Amino acid sequence: MRLLILSDIHANLEALEACMDAAPDHDQVYNLGDIVGYGANPNEVVARSRQLGSVFVRGNHDKACSGLIDLMEFNPIAGKAALWTRAQLLPEHLEFLRALPQGPLLPQANLELVHGSPRDEDEYMLFAGDAYQVLAEAAVPVIFFGHTHVQRCFLLELASGQGKSLLPAYKSSKGKQTIRFDVKPGTNYMVNPGSVGQPRDGDPRAAFLLYDTGEQTITFYRGQYDIERAQQKILSAGLPDRLAFRLAEGR
Ligand code: ZN
Repeated sequence: MRLLILSDIHANLEALEACMDAAPDHDQVYNLGDIVGYGANPNEVVARSRQLGSVFVRGNHDKACSGLIDLMEFNPIAGKAALWTRAQLLPEHLEFLRALPQGPLLPQANLELVHGSPRDEDEYMLFAGDAYQVLAEAAVPVIFFGHTHVQRCFLLELASGQGKSLLPAYKSSKGKQTIRFDVKPGTNYMVNPGSVGQPRDGDPRAAFLLYDTGEQTITFYRGQYDIERAQQKILSAGLPDRLAFRLAEGR
């Protein structure tokens, strides 16, 4: 089975469409949450995401924008964007977001989906030490996570106890690029596809991945999209400027 894994789209319709144009053939789409928040097209992105697949875990922005959590936990810019998003969302989309399941989700054997981490849906898995702890106790060999907006892989070889943290090293930051690696037996993996709609690893291109469970390979993708158009929409909507500028920086 070929699984397309998307995360942190953040209401960026241009980035989502570019990813779907760049995506290889696949059987199913799994979504790791933060469908909305920050970007200017929450309704369009929710509708498109629901068309693409039915497997979702909720993100913190999905909770905030649909009124499930207090915005006091958010920084002022994210809070402003969440309030704007809540006011824009159609009732059916609000209801859909409110009903999204909390991770971890096990859509099939040997594979788990979370927004933050298996132990806390809102945890930022930024450091290898935290990831190795989770990997040592993992119930399945492959965990896909989002939330940090950084495309990467943590792995732990179970026999040796050796951990590794891998960041994809693309040859350039232009056009569409891919990096593929093998999923090996006896090793646990935590893999982040990166963010479709607001990358924060210094590469402004939209990010996602493909997991081929037959071949046991994971392929990271980066692709260009119309950043200027997404920025223009954010500014026209009256959302905070910073949300537009950061898209070009990939920060
Ligand atoms: Zn996010």
